[in-house]
Amino acid sequence: MKEQLPGGAQRKLEYLRISVTDRCNLRCAYCLPEEGLPLVPREEILTYEEIALVARAAARAGVRHVRLTGGEPLVRPDLVRLVEQLAAIPGLQDLSLTTNGVLLGPLAPQLAAAGLRRVNVSLDSLRPERFRAITRGGELALALAGLEAARRAGLEPVKVNVVVMRGVNDDEILDFAARARTDGWHVRFIELMPIGAAAGQAERWFIPNELLKTRVEAAYGPLEPVALEGAGPARTYRLPGGSGSIGFISPLSEHFCSSCNRLRLTAHGQLLPCLASPKGLELLPLLRRGASDDELVQMLQLAFALKGDGHHLGARSGGLLWPMSAVGG
Ligand code: SAM
Repeated sequence: MKEQLPGGAQRKLEYLRISVTDRCNLRCAYCLPEEGLPLVPREEILTYEEIALVARAAARAGVRHVRLTGGEPLVRPDLVRLVEQLAAIPGLQDLSLTTNGVLLGPLAPQLAAAGLRRVNVSLDSLRPERFRAITRGGELALALAGLEAARRAGLEPVKVNVVVMRGVNDDEILDFAARARTDGWHVRFIELMPIGAAAGQAERWFIPNELLKTRVEAAYGPLEPVALEGAGPARTYRLPGGSGSIGFISPLSEHFCSSCNRLRLTAHGQLLPCLASPKGLELLPLLRRGASDDELVQMLQLAFALKGDGHHLGARSGGLLWPMSAVGG
């Protein structure tokens, strides 16, 4: 479906982000409180079959790309089974996963064989101690092993998503850039949003991407723009002499809402027009009473029509207390 925007532009529903769980094996300091959050009871989490019904309807409504996320998607048992179901849906051309990578090592070959095409690994530090501190206990070596296993399994391009925070990890951006040059990494620097534990802190930690780009260019010279599969809202560049890429995703300093073509499905079956939507459309009751494919398509169209052309999250705003791990980051 297409939606008319102010100014006559049109956008099309093409992308569905599905959170398969609200559980996470890490507790990133900017995302979750140390003690975690109250969890949704398991019986209120969509089953794989229910998720596949929504994805099938989404494909009918025009969706071409599904990304699985969470919480941490790999903590949900037997995720490979869901990947198989989704990969068999006609019309879905791209199936990807966002993960912290810690559990990815042994699973990457099975996920690839089941039909997963690409992986994004969230990795905010290359220093073991700092990684442990940011994630409150995560093992960097496991995340790096997961990333390498994904590359070996052909889940490429593997993107490395880095949320950059002033005084926390901004001294590592050139280390990440070096990995793009020497190891072919596709690094994405993401601006911190005032969501979850970062709400209220964002002013202290926030760094506009423009500043990071200036720092990278001061070290490497001018960055050359490049087109990359599934680049989404990232502005992507090649480093002189490197095989990887560097991208900047700037939801605050340069928000891309008016071209946003995505919807989100939470683990408990809410369909959200936007990450910043306070409430979504409830699909769980519909699914549990045996909604038809047509009804699901209508809900998807309704949610898409509810999309605005801007969010109201600024580094100085109060932000959203509910973290990305709950709505599906
Ligand atoms: N567990 C998976 C992972 O680590 O990729 C998927 C869920 S996680 C919530 C998805 C992404 O959201 C991660 O890259 C994380 O860094 C990012 N994220 C969480 N809170 C954020 C915030 N306040 N601002 C920007 N990104 C955030």
